[in-house]
Amino acid sequence: MAKKPPKQLALLDEDMCTGCEACVSVCPVDCIDTVPGPQHDSVLQLCSIDLPRCIGCTLCAQVCPWDVISMVPSDQMLRVKRFADEFAK
Ligand code: SF4
Ligand code: SF4
Repeated sequence: MAKKPPKQLALLDEDMCTGCEACVSVCPVDCIDTVPGPQHDSVLQLCSIDLPRCIGCTLCAQVCPWDVISMVPSDQMLRVKRFADEFAK
């Protein structure tokens, strides 16, 4: 059975992330990982959120120095197919 999402989920704008990792250390469920950045850019890494594990605590959004993470109502997030697919796995 698919996991029931929390009221809100963290949405990370990968185009704006600097890979500073401030969000990684505060996540209580360790659902933020670093991934390689785009080859054409000077950003060597980005962060990526494993949404089905996110509990919507908002800590990452509070600490991001660049306001790259927004908290979005889960029903709104899950209308986007690629996010809904992550929950369906
Ligand atoms: S909202 Fe909380 S649980 Fe979700 S990614 Fe951010 S720190 Fe982790
Ligand atoms: S704190 Fe913000 S800028 Fe830093 S890695 Fe996380 S999302 Fe990216």
